[in-house]
Amino acid sequence: VELPADPNEENEVRQVKDALFSYVNPTKPSNPKLIHASKEVAELVGISADEIQTESFLNTFSGKEVLPGTRPYAMCYAGHQFGNWAGQLGDGRAINLTEVEHNDQNFTLQLKGAGKTPYSRTADGLAVLRSSVREYLCAEAMYYLGVPTTRSLSLMLSGDQVLRDILYNGNPAYEKGAIVCRVAPSFIRFGSFEMLSARNELKNLKQFVEYNLKHYFPEIKGEPKDQYLQFFKTVADKTREMILHWQRVGFVHGVMNTDNMSVHGITIDYGPYGWLENYDPSWTPNTTDSQNRRYRFGNQPQIAQWNLYQLANALYPLINEAEPLEKILESFITDFDRDYKGMFLSKLGIFTSTEADDKLISGLDTVLQLSETDMTIFFRNLSKVQKSDSVDEAIEKIKDSFYLPEEIKGDILESWKKWFTVYLQRLNTEELSDQVRSEKMNQINPKYVLRNYMSQLAIDAADKDDYSLIEELYLLLQKPYDEQPEFEKWFAKRPDWARSKVGCSM
Ligand code: AMP
Ligand code: MG
Ligand code: MG
Repeated sequence: VELPADPNEENEVRQVKDALFSYVNPTKPSNPKLIHASKEVAELVGISADEIQTESFLNTFSGKEVLPGTRPYAMCYAGHQFGNWAGQLGDGRAINLTEVEHNDQNFTLQLKGAGKTPYSRTADGLAVLRSSVREYLCAEAMYYLGVPTTRSLSLMLSGDQVLRDILYNGNPAYEKGAIVCRVAPSFIRFGSFEMLSARNELKNLKQFVEYNLKHYFPEIKGEPKDQYLQFFKTVADKTREMILHWQRVGFVHGVMNTDNMSVHGITIDYGPYGWLENYDPSWTPNTTDSQNRRYRFGNQPQIAQWNLYQLANALYPLINEAEPLEKILESFITDFDRDYKGMFLSKLGIFTSTEADDKLISGLDTVLQLSETDMTIFFRNLSKVQKSDSVDEAIEKIKDSFYLPEEIKGDILESWKKWFTVYLQRLNTEELSDQVRSEKMNQINPKYVLRNYMSQLAIDAADKDDYSLIEELYLLLQKPYDEQPEFEKWFAKRPDWARSKVGCSM
């Protein structure tokens, strides 16, 4: 193919009809600098550890140079944001560099924060250091937790200043610009289908679905209509599995708009995300959503289903039958509830299931909220409880998870005692030994998650050119289920200064 001299020259912010992407080159950064790169992700896509240190790596993944023979592009998609149709959005600050095949796997390499595209609307196409550190670390943390996600290849400084805030005195607050290269099978979103459907570009829609089938879901066979339905069912299944993992580890995405939903069922677009610290299903890390709390922890399964409805609507013109789509959507929640029960019981070290367990689960959900209880520490320490423990001994073992231990008295203490009485009885009906159960639980309940205050410390240090904390967290979070005595300090409740702190989205 003939390469455009500089596609940016002809690009302006616009509505892009009859197309799913636009060629656009990254904006050249003025002084790129590598902060961190993942050796593992590099190897995954066929880049050796030695190559990471080269000029070519720096130039390619900062957007300074376009790899010979490649044509970077930004994708056009639409979406529903906070429940409302938002029309065309597109990659406003993401540019796909290229696609690679390595060890029979396909990857798209995408820069985030590499400058304007036709989809930047009124924004600058850039990303700041703090949001980039958060995305870079979190994607890898999620991967090692076993949660389907995009991966992080590299984190670079652009050398340019980015404006995100005007101070109260009217002065601009500049921040360091940064660029993350992230990796996924593709960055195709529900919103890609919605856009074609909303514009009634049915020929493109059909071609696009077939493209997805051919490249990403080759196992789907049959008549075209059947394939489209199976495609939808597969996306629904993968989405369900992803949300189940989110609920397991206490992850809250914060911006589950349909343009942030991957067709591969992987976690994508890390903005104001967070982890539950005190267990609170109504919590959201997104300050702009603090009224409705649409994207709160406990609502994530319902929102996933709502988003799948939008995808179903988008695919409908190709299928022209509502019933089979509705069936898949209905079973989404029933299947989720079934899986959720098994998952939650496994967090409790219970690997069989009875009807009475519903009460055990809802009882814990209630009691966890009576006093601020750290979700991660509670479940991790629960694995120390033994079948022969008394209720008091069991409570003693999880009491480090209470933010306000002085509140654990009176009715609250009674509620905890009641719950543990039932729990200990239930444990004694299980066949697994204490030791085997504890080992299994510790593979399900992580010891280390990327708490907001941890990212914040890494960001503050990075802002002063100290990247050691990024490296430390990166290493720590590669083994979230292991005991890591050298890192024990990170197995701790959020400090007081970080209470109710929310993530950042820009
Ligand atoms: P998000 O909520 O972060 O997924 O972003 C929603 C939309 O806004 C997407 O189309 C993004 O590409 C776009 N966007 C977000 N931040 C920027 C930015 N700094 N410059 C250009 N586009 C942006
Ligand atoms: Mg997005
Ligand atoms: Mg974003």
